[in-house]
Amino acid sequence: EIQLSGISKQFGQFKALNNVGLNIQSGELLALLGPSGSGKTTLLRIIAGLENADIGSVYFDGVDMANTPLRERQIGFVFQHYALFKHMTLRENVSFGLRVKTRAFRRPAAAIRARADELLKLVQLGGLEDRYPHQLSGGQRQRVALARALAIDPKVLLLDEPFGALDAKVRKELRQWLRDLHQQTGVTTVFVTHDQEEALELADRVVIMQKGEIAQLGSVDQVYEQPASPLVFDFLGDSN
Ligand code: ATP
Repeated sequence: EIQLSGISKQFGQFKALNNVGLNIQSGELLALLGPSGSGKTTLLRIIAGLENADIGSVYFDGVDMANTPLRERQIGFVFQHYALFKHMTLRENVSFGLRVKTRAFRRPAAAIRARADELLKLVQLGGLEDRYPHQLSGGQRQRVALARALAIDPKVLLLDEPFGALDAKVRKELRQWLRDLHQQTGVTTVFVTHDQEEALELADRVVIMQKGEIAQLGSVDQVYEQPASPLVFDFLGDSN
């Protein structure tokens, strides 16, 4: 379980997050929705440890992340324009994280290779291990990015508009695929999306952010059937 409490973050005079509290349950798929600039990415970056909150705390399974080095947080992420290493094959791309992590464990090269190939199969790219990223479609590249994120056996997967750059048809396919993958791996997943349909179809629960605060948190049904405020109602209505 991830517990965020009293998280505030300011950039200059601008309050990007204001006293955000949120419990993310183990194994859930949580969607972050909200207008542009409402603080979704900032919140994700704070969970990831890429950004520090001015005030507030992040706990993973009871452990304060303030004292946990980045590498030990076991967080996998995928961003919209996630760059794969161009000069590396898919297998090398996925192995990269494994090598970094496994130095301490001295996992042999053959085991790393086998694990990378297993992950590529999991994201349905078996047989393409020796290809380079430029030989793939956009959707396939995002799946490699997911395989790479999964390579470290993350406790949490953070996805920031992972399919944002792709066309509608591919997005739809990847949505289905992500849902299946989540069922197989059971990894706690938090994803930012602008696409309400995506949130609707994938998420166990939805967080709606407004101006740096949580305007509503609930199941997809709750949020749609009982918007907590006129702001939430307008937001949901706008993009339909
Ligand atoms: P979008 O949907 O457009 O990605 P968002 O909800 O993810 O938006 P954030 O990226 O979290 O919003 O940004 C929240 C606000 O904080 C924005 O107004 C942004 O301009 C500001 N902001 C974010 N990062 C910085 C930074 N490093 N320096 C200054 N301002 C920042």
